[in-house]
Amino acid sequence: MQLEHVNVFKNLESLTKIRQREVFCPIAKVTALNTPLIAADDLMLKTTMSSVAIYDKELSKIIYNHTEFPEIETNGTRIAFEQFIENISYLDRQVLLWGIFDATYGTLGKREISCPFCANKFEDDIKSEELLQPDSLTAWDLDQSFVEYTFMIDEIVDIPNVYKLQFIAQLPSIKKHLDVLTLLTTDQIQNNFDNFGSLFSKVEELSTVISSIKVFKTIDDERPDTFDKLKDIYFVIRKFLLLSITSSVLQKFNNHFAKFIPSFKKPYTCGECGKDFDFRVDMEINLFRRFLETE
Ligand SMILES: [Zn+2]
Repeated sequence: MQLEHVNVFKNLESLTKIRQREVFCPIAKVTALNTPLIAADDLMLKTTMSSVAIYDKELSKIIYNHTEFPEIETNGTRIAFEQFIENISYLDRQVLLWGIFDATYGTLGKREISCPFCANKFEDDIKSEELLQPDSLTAWDLDQSFVEYTFMIDEIVDIPNVYKLQFIAQLPSIKKHLDVLTLLTTDQIQNNFDNFGSLFSKVEELSTVISSIKVFKTIDDERPDTFDKLKDIYFVIRKFLLLSITSSVLQKFNNHFAKFIPSFKKPYTCGECGKDFDFRVDMEINLFRRFLETE
């Protein structure tokens, strides 16, 4: 590198700095700085979109590349990708996506809004800042960190030799999500995507939030059989769990953690019927949508 270039590079660096966006990861409870996507991300985003099998991991890398933690990364240190995915929750990931989106684009562009109460349709240019409402983020307020906190879900089965199934549930980290994906073949992921419109079916969804399954043979079984390896948990859920139990456990999990799910939305009052409603936005979908629009 030529010496006279160093100063120019320093000056150019401030280009990405002025567009930085500070966000608070509500679950990991840490402040992050998101930097805008740059031209070099173009290929990475395209590669990400071309294959569902590598999608989640590549997107997590992009998020990592554009996230700094000023409270932790002092004196020029950088947390490793592994630390990042282990200690940041999958819900925080959505907030970081919002930060990157806001730093990069700032606006969703013109969107058609439909009133859910009447036939009224109108257009609006939605700024990403407007999607963060006072109740959009709820900070983690439980005794232990999200990595340690567990929630017990019991399902009484009451068949011979199986009285009860006990599920130990946790909010997943980014890593847990990636680990579950590695259990699937490319075909399975593609199949899920074609059938459910997401990378995960209920089986995988449940596997990401369960850290242990105990099988009680009787009502007072003191030594229940325990599965606490992801591979075994996934196998049990996939092979033996009735859809009704899977749905029930997921429902109880969602009810317990509902308030922590970030909601990106812009409130409107319909000009025709006068009713209030929220226009809800998925940041992941919108990041790719905007990327394709502005390409
Ligand atoms: Zn209306």
